[in-house]
Formats: sequence, C-alpha cells, structure tokens
Amino acid sequence: MKITNHPSLSYKRNELFINDYNLHSITKDLKTPFYLYSLEALQRNFENFKTEAQSNGLKNPLICYALKANSNIRLLKTLKSLGAGADIVSGGELKQALKAKIPAQKIVFSGVGKNESEIELALTCHPEGIYSFNVESIEELEMISSIAQRLNKTARVALRLNPQVNVKTHKHISTGGKSHKFGILKRDIEQALLKKKLWKSVSLVGLSMHIGSQLTCLKATRKALIELCRLCNSCNQLEFIDVGGGLGVPYNEDHPLSTLSEYMELIAKITQRELKEELRIVFEPGRYIAANCGVLITEVIRSKSSEENKFIIVDGGMNDFVRSSLYGAYHHVLPLKKRPSKLSTCHVVGPICETADSFASNRELPLLKAKDRICIADVGAYGSSMGSTYNMREKTREYIIDLKGEVRR
Ligand SMILES: *Cc1c(COP(=O)(O)O)cnc(C)c1O
Repeated sequence: MKITNHPSLSYKRNELFINDYNLHSITKDLKTPFYLYSLEALQRNFENFKTEAQSNGLKNPLICYALKANSNIRLLKTLKSLGAGADIVSGGELKQALKAKIPAQKIVFSGVGKNESEIELALTCHPEGIYSFNVESIEELEMISSIAQRLNKTARVALRLNPQVNVKTHKHISTGGKSHKFGILKRDIEQALLKKKLWKSVSLVGLSMHIGSQLTCLKATRKALIELCRLCNSCNQLEFIDVGGGLGVPYNEDHPLSTLSEYMELIAKITQRELKEELRIVFEPGRYIAANCGVLITEVIRSKSSEENKFIIVDGGMNDFVRSSLYGAYHHVLPLKKRPSKLSTCHVVGPICETADSFASNRELPLLKAKDRICIADVGAYGSSMGSTYNMREKTREYIIDLKGEVRR
C-alpha cells in the first residue's frame, strides 16, 4: 500500500487522489469494474521520453509507441498529437493507428506471423507504405518481397536481430534468447545480405532488436545493442537503428530498477561509440508510456474467510486484468477510502471460476466492506489490451480523465 513515489497516485486525508482529482468523487457514478486513464500522466511520460532522448544528443528520434500495450483510441490520439509513431503487431493495430491519424511514415510493423493480407494492407495504406516492416525471418522477407513485387511497390524493411541474450524478466516476456521465436540470428542476416535475389522489391533501411519487456537492468540491452551496432556497420545505406522497447516500470517500489535517464544514456553512448555513421534511433516503448497512466477500479462484493485465508471478493476479474494471474505480477491494491482500522492479511480475488483469478495475495489491507471501491494501480499497459470476455463477462469499460479534468468515455 506504500505509494510514496508514485507520480500520479497519493492519499490525502485517507482518500485516494489521481493527480489533483479525488478518485472516488470523480468516478462514483460509474459502474465497476472499469479502467480510468489519465491523459496528463500519458503526456508527461511521452514528453519525458522524448526530452530524455534529445538531451542525450539523439537527433530526430522516432518514438513508435507499442500499441499492444494499450490501443485505446483516445490515448493514441493524444500520443499522435505529441508526435508519436506506432509499433504495431497486427492488421487490427495498423487500422487503429491510422484511425488515430498516426502517419504511415511513422509506423513500424513487428511480429513473427505477419500474414499476406496484413502485409498487403501495410504496403498499400499510403503511397509510400509504412516506415518499416521489422522482419523476423528470411521466409517472411521472401513473402514481403513477392507481395511487394505483385503490387509494384518497394517495401521498406528492417531485419530484427536475435542477439542471443537472456534477460532477467518473466520468462513469458523475454524475447531475445536463442531458443525464442523472435528475430534472426546474426549468421543468417549476414548470409541474407549476400543473396541478391532476396532483395527484389524490398529495400533494407534499418536493423532492429527487442529483447523483452519489463527489463529491470540494462546489462543485456547493452550487450545486444553493441552486437546490433556492429552489424549495422556491415550494411550499406541504412537510415535507422531500432532499439525496441522493454524499459521496465516500478510496479513495486521495493525492487530496484534502471531509470529512463540511465537507459537513454546507454543507448546514446553505445550508438555514438559503435556506429560508423550516425543513424536515426527508433524506439518502441509501450509499458513505460502507458503503465502508470491507468487504474482499474473495482468494487468489493463481499469478503469470505476460511480456516487460514481471508478473501476480499471484488467484481473485477482476470478477464478484465490478467497480469497478476498470468505472470504473478505485483500491482498495488489501494482502497479509494481508507478506513481507520487494523490491517489484516487478505487475498483480493475476482468472481471468475479459476484459482488463478487473483489480483493480490497476502496483502495487508484495512477493513473493506461490500460496495467499497479499490483501485488496482499501474494497469495502463497490458491491461485492457489483454482483456477478454471469459465467463461471458462484458468487455471492460474504459474512461479517460482529459486535460481539463473531465471524465469521459
Ligand atoms: C511488446 C513489444 C514492444 C513494447 O514493449 P514494452 O515492454 O511494452 O516497452 C516493443 N517492440 C516489440 C517488437 C514488441 O513486441
């Protein structure tokens, strides 16, 4: 329950505030469970990211927000207005990015399973197509090449290096290891560069990497980036180097974490030192931009005690927010109004018929009664975008607090 360093959430007289707004007062008429996103927090995160890149001497960086973290249209329109591009992983995300008016020339397309219709859409959505297909296999390169040829287009591509590093994060979100499905091994990239027939109707404009998500230390990033820069030096006429996303956020202040400024400093230092020629740096942050902008508000239905356990049963479930169930992820659980009462150890669980349907285990919480509302913190990334309607529940509603402090759909 300690939220001493949170950029947006704080208690004032035992009531929870998001920035200057009392969460209970501004949302009491809304039916739970629902997500609430702060555009102010979103804007601050994006501006910090951009400013940090520029103050480390990176010229004209392209910040392609990873839509899979949260593809809410209002968030996307806000990011677009701040100059963001998009990192997409499906045709659906491409359409959503374009709907938010993000220019095609700021869109990069990642993912191992791009299919024919998605590739066609990315090639034809703009006369020049998208900024880059971040290609994950030679087989994919061949497919893009033949589709581009048929459409009489030239596809801009970047090859994604599999740098064979193992990162310290949850195994489900580590993506840069030799055994993982992502990226292309250095050896295979080097061979592909020599094969002329692979490069019909495609133009190699960059190299990319993305080694995992919620990265807490920069050791693997450093190692992978050095590899990537050296490989860039052996290619001709590249326009950019795409360093991926993955910067972690402090879900739990007890765990140490690399900061944005340490991250940017590393990227700037390594690229300036290793690259023969200066290249534009492309970033693909998702979690860093969106995580702390969002809360999930859910209401207590009842509590239940058995021999050893006290359960607080709330109306939100793993279909609304799955990170705790899927990754055992820690998220603060914060009552909107704290009663002056003794703390007791509780499990906060949802109504879904799965034992994994839990937001928090063994948390010290004050007394919570039916209809009390709680907030699950830092759920702006990989929250609603990973939601489902499991158990035939409704799709979780989403609201924003706009820059004037108004709560809207
Ligand atoms: C998921 C993903 C990202 C975003 O990762 P974050 O950890 O949210 O920053 C960026 N690039 C690619 C290729 C991804 O798959």
